Amino acid sequence: ANSLLSSYGTTVFEVMSRLAIEHGSINLGQGFPDDFGPEPALKKASEFLFDRPNQYPPMLGVPELRQAVAAHNKHFYGLDVDWQTETMVSTGATEGLAACFFGLIEPGDEVVLIEPTYDCYLPIIRRAGGIPRVVTLRPPEWNLDIAALKAAFTEKTKLLVLNSPMNPASKVFTEEELSAIAEIVIANDCYAVCDEVYEHMAFDGRRHHPLMTLPGMRERCVRIGSAGKTFSLTGWKVGYLTAPAELLQPISKAHQFLVFTTAPNLQRAVAYGLGLGDGYFHGLRDSMQAKRNRLADGLSRINGFDCVECEGTYFQFVDISGLGFDGDDIEFCRHITTEAGVTAVPVSAFYHGAAPKNFIRFCFAKQDAILDEAVAKLAAYF
Ligand code: PMP
Ligand code: GLN
Repeated sequence: ANSLLSSYGTTVFEVMSRLAIEHGSINLGQGFPDDFGPEPALKKASEFLFDRPNQYPPMLGVPELRQAVAAHNKHFYGLDVDWQTETMVSTGATEGLAACFFGLIEPGDEVVLIEPTYDCYLPIIRRAGGIPRVVTLRPPEWNLDIAALKAAFTEKTKLLVLNSPMNPASKVFTEEELSAIAEIVIANDCYAVCDEVYEHMAFDGRRHHPLMTLPGMRERCVRIGSAGKTFSLTGWKVGYLTAPAELLQPISKAHQFLVFTTAPNLQRAVAYGLGLGDGYFHGLRDSMQAKRNRLADGLSRINGFDCVECEGTYFQFVDISGLGFDGDDIEFCRHITTEAGVTAVPVSAFYHGAAPKNFIRFCFAKQDAILDEAVAKLAAYF
């Protein structure tokens, strides 16, 4: 009989969130904020639900949002983008990534990834027929080994996937690293899929630079953003892509058969959100930076929780080897969920081959009182 066993595992976020609900534990595992997002954008979504049509919007997205994406590129990064040929709205960054992988990869093409990788990349790349070539970064410095990256490229390489700010490593790639990456991509005549969903969460004065802004890269990059991250509205699943027309064409062909489009009132409300002034975007960054400090300070007072510096994103990467726990990161995350009442995600889920077993990830996009309560519970238990 045909086998119905799936080669896809269940995502670690679903597994840990279910366990957290089951045990009434504070969920700092799956990455989602516990605030409501900017109220004016919520009001717009509700207005647009009633006073605009709710039928299929255009396949590439509503013009208002595509224009707002082009304007956002210009405002923050000085990029000149033609909204009609170079932007596309996706159903969350996840579907945007899937459209890139299914649209750009031909069976046998090689794809270079930098590990630890966000969990949806590899399964989709493999289903698209891509062959992953993985370069691993090591904590706590997360330095990119340029020679190793260079060596990962062959004549079969089609794409590099770059996630900066990077989940779960919380690394923001430096300008020097980006220049070296650009040079390698150009030398190998490849493209780059740039997952920049945390573009507005780079801390301590660091700046996020899209790879697309580097010399020679405008024609080679797809840049992906997410309203889930930028407006704390993860349930809306609105993402947006910027890419040269030639690259966007095959991506949009995959998008048409994946989802075709996404909810029109939400697209229009996100267009409104992208037009909020700098105060909104800086406020998001500053508030996340303060939460990062709050959680890291709290954890550092508990012996054995060793925080790796978080440069961006809303995740804290923690080395737990000092706790002397008898088990791996997966067992540890189950253990603290059931015994301490706090949930994290095991970082081995973000590795492709041999994974370290002593790291976990906390999401700090939570109310201060929740972060304090989580720290108090861990302190009481350990
Ligand atoms: N990329 C990264 C690095 C992420 O952390 C996430 C999770 N939000 C996504 C993509 C998916 O974004 P979305 O929820 O917009 O699909
Ligand atoms: N991006 C979120 C994270 O890293 C999770 C998204 C999801 O659950 N698929 O936690």
